[in-house]
Amino acid sequence: MLFAPDTEVALRSVVNLINTAANGEDLLATLEDLNSFLKAEEFTGSRTNSAAELTSIKRLRGELAALWTSDEDTAAKTVNKLLADAKALPQLVKHDHWDWHLHATTPEAPLVDRMGTEAAMAIIDVIRSREMDRMRVCAAEDCDAVVLDLSRNRSKLYCDTGNCANRAHVAAYRARKAAGSE
Ligand SMILES: [Zn+2]
Ligand SMILES: [Zn+2]
Repeated sequence: MLFAPDTEVALRSVVNLINTAANGEDLLATLEDLNSFLKAEEFTGSRTNSAAELTSIKRLRGELAALWTSDEDTAAKTVNKLLADAKALPQLVKHDHWDWHLHATTPEAPLVDRMGTEAAMAIIDVIRSREMDRMRVCAAEDCDAVVLDLSRNRSKLYCDTGNCANRAHVAAYRARKAAGSE
């Protein structure tokens, strides 16, 4: 394990959020989409279920996506801004089936503040461990989904959104075959 368990959960969630806008799609087109996303990510707490809430999450999604191609200094500014905007105050908590982890907002805080803070706290760990090179864009030519490589040997190249890894293997196999080496 590279990071604390709650950090890795949060980072995976950030990747899933960003990839709801991968490859020209928008999987957060409606409030219903947002509801199912939050359910899948086990994100609880207060909601307004308003169009403004959905818009705020999409804005956050864009800010987080930009982190994947940012340099360290820019990324540091972004996470600090997210924490300042949400007036984050770290507290160690235990709830539901989750063991000790950090919350830096109250369950009553707006959804965008809670999601932004959780994302920022997790990405802070990546930045200060000098592991930002694990934040990449999918290696498939026609895919712009983001990838977070949590593998020990830094071997993850493809996203989890489709079957980019399979397609790449098939293409490599065909290329070898065409070159007569099979
Ligand atoms: Zn929690
Ligand atoms: Zn991909």
